[in-house]
Amino acid sequence: MEPAYLLFDIGGTDIKAALATPDGTLHTVLRSPTPQAGDPEAAAVLAELDVLRGRLLAGSPSLTPVAAGVVVCGTVDEQAGTGVFSSNLGWRNVPFRRLCTERFGIPTGFGHDVGTAGEAELALGAGRVLGRQAANTAVLVIGTGIAGALFVDGRRLEAGGFAGEIGHAAVPGGLDCPCGAHGCLETVGSAAAIARNYTRATGTEVDGAREVLERRRTGDTDAAHCWDAAVEALSFSIAQLCASVGPEAVIVGGGLAQAGDDLLVPLRAAVDARLSFHRTPRIITAELGQDAGLRGAYLRAEAARSAATKETP
Ligand SMILES: [Zn+2]
Repeated sequence: MEPAYLLFDIGGTDIKAALATPDGTLHTVLRSPTPQAGDPEAAAVLAELDVLRGRLLAGSPSLTPVAAGVVVCGTVDEQAGTGVFSSNLGWRNVPFRRLCTERFGIPTGFGHDVGTAGEAELALGAGRVLGRQAANTAVLVIGTGIAGALFVDGRRLEAGGFAGEIGHAAVPGGLDCPCGAHGCLETVGSAAAIARNYTRATGTEVDGAREVLERRRTGDTDAAHCWDAAVEALSFSIAQLCASVGPEAVIVGGGLAQAGDDLLVPLRAAVDARLSFHRTPRIITAELGQDAGLRGAYLRAEAARSAATKETP
């Protein structure tokens, strides 16, 4: 029997589940759609974890879970171990850490999906090239929405789960946001917004921001406008971060980061143009890809196991 960690990344769209050996290797990543809204106690989500756990254990009979890591979307209070609120999924104040510890019968670590993915990116991904700069770094995940993990003086800012919501701070040119505010960054700067705003301007459906970028390359001025507006909006928000928390590096992940230099080169120039005496951050792409959340769950499982081992020598 080989010891393993039981990992779950509960996002707004799907739940990813995996077993990992303590060396960090992920075995058999499973995905299933997240049970949707009207679930204030997350009962359907927790039941789905049981199903996934059963499938994982059946598929890898030689692995024995000795600790679990669970990361969830929404507003999360890591100290208390609760999912405070998820606007997508409808839960409120769900004590995930306690419920999962009881369900799985093993030490269970708990955290915020983007926050712990950011920690994993620093520890296991792009952060490894940053050295001491990693202590002051912003990790931005730009996909359907935009979320951030802010590291200041070596600690991630949590603020009861309210820090890092950079996608929901207003930018010039921002539009009405489903969150209820007006002008949020993610209405212009996210991958989904680039595609949506292109379709709104032209009436043409596109296959995501990737197709808008392709059209921009062929001289489509509407595509160029939507892409450039996203870069401007992102540069505005990054410049705000530079003035407020002074990052030495910004790691860009999520689907939009796949654009590589088509995003990073103009983004670096636009950020530079907005700064004067500020510290100009290095802007680099993330390395962990879509498994970053599971890597974050892995770090939490490892910490839970290590804490439990200390308690019972
Ligand atoms: Zn918003």
